[in-house]
Amino acid sequence: MKALVYHGPGKKSWDDVPDPKLLDPTDAVIQVDTTTICGTDLHILKGDVPAVTEGRILGHEGVGTVLEVGSAVRTVKVGDRVIISCVSSCAVCIYCRTGNPSHCLAPEGAVGLGWILGHLIDGTQAEKVRIPFADTSLYLLPEGVSDEAAVLLSDIFPTGFEIGVQYGRVKPGDTVAVVGAGPVGLSVMATAALYGAAQVIAIDLDEGRLAFAKEIGATHGVNSGDADWREQVLALTDGYGVDVAIEAVGLPATFEMCTRLVRPGGNVANVGVHGTAALLDLQRLWIQNISISMGLVNTTSLGMLLKLVANHKLPVEKFATHRFAMADMMHAYATFQDAAHTGALKVIISR
Ligand code: NAD
Ligand code: ZN
Repeated sequence: MKALVYHGPGKKSWDDVPDPKLLDPTDAVIQVDTTTICGTDLHILKGDVPAVTEGRILGHEGVGTVLEVGSAVRTVKVGDRVIISCVSSCAVCIYCRTGNPSHCLAPEGAVGLGWILGHLIDGTQAEKVRIPFADTSLYLLPEGVSDEAAVLLSDIFPTGFEIGVQYGRVKPGDTVAVVGAGPVGLSVMATAALYGAAQVIAIDLDEGRLAFAKEIGATHGVNSGDADWREQVLALTDGYGVDVAIEAVGLPATFEMCTRLVRPGGNVANVGVHGTAALLDLQRLWIQNISISMGLVNTTSLGMLLKLVANHKLPVEKFATHRFAMADMMHAYATFQDAAHTGALKVIISR
């Protein structure tokens, strides 16, 4: 089969590779019908994720059709259409049983990480993929949900909702600021209303993304390139600061922006993946009763979000900006990597 293979920092190609096989009785092999590219794949290509070794097939998002199942798999069968979660979870280890499958102990020799696809094992940017713990890592796709809507549920929508909205403890009436209007920040904005946010302030440097943010749930947009960006945000809160500030970029500066926007008693939720330390002004923040949260997505909300998508309650269709055939994978990467010029948000890659 063909697959997108990582060959070390800055190097990737669309290669001929052997087909995946069932290795454990709990595995399934899936024909990938639709996949996409995540900002995290770009981090890997930069060499920021050294656990990814040369020869690894990338990708942790996908929708497909079950081709083969192991003898222990009970809930999916050959021919079923499924969403692949970016987290593979055994459902019985101590972390899975306490609600943190992102730290599942079972895969790959108990490394304590549920995100293994396109990371520690071969991923979804391929014609076929082996999925461990098929029963608890795949979700049956109901009739009427398109692949390009469903593929957003592999990673970005659960990430925005769980690590942004839920960890940030958004509650009815809140004013929520989201720094970063990329696919993940936009997923925060698109789900903040589920918990009753009254105002959702999108903050980005890119006017195109700020305009898009207002189409999917943001009530206001603030350009952080403006010298008075902070005053603009505070003006929307009678000067008090936001109830919840959510970081969805992954830079020290944007984390620090969040700690400067939040009101006393408020919450800062960090979603971004950081490569370096950020400054935490404890001497200023302690007396403000601020809570700070962060984490790796669990995808425990995937089933719930799927019900909302099936009932047209989330603006998922708007996220797909470009479409490619799988054989055009390199072109899809080039388009996604140059998002500033191409306006790419989610590139949809289908067989
Ligand atoms: P992205 O790069 O597509 O989007 C980031 C956005 O931030 C862009 O729109 C950019 O213009 C904006 N930005 C950059 N500098 C800024 C600044 N100074 N002020 C305001 N905006 C600024 O990224 P994405 O795919 O949306 O992902 C966002 C982050 O979430 C990444 O760090 C990604 O690795 C991370 N992520 C985390 C998890 C998790 O489990 N916690 C899962 C998936 C992705
Ligand atoms: Zn991802």
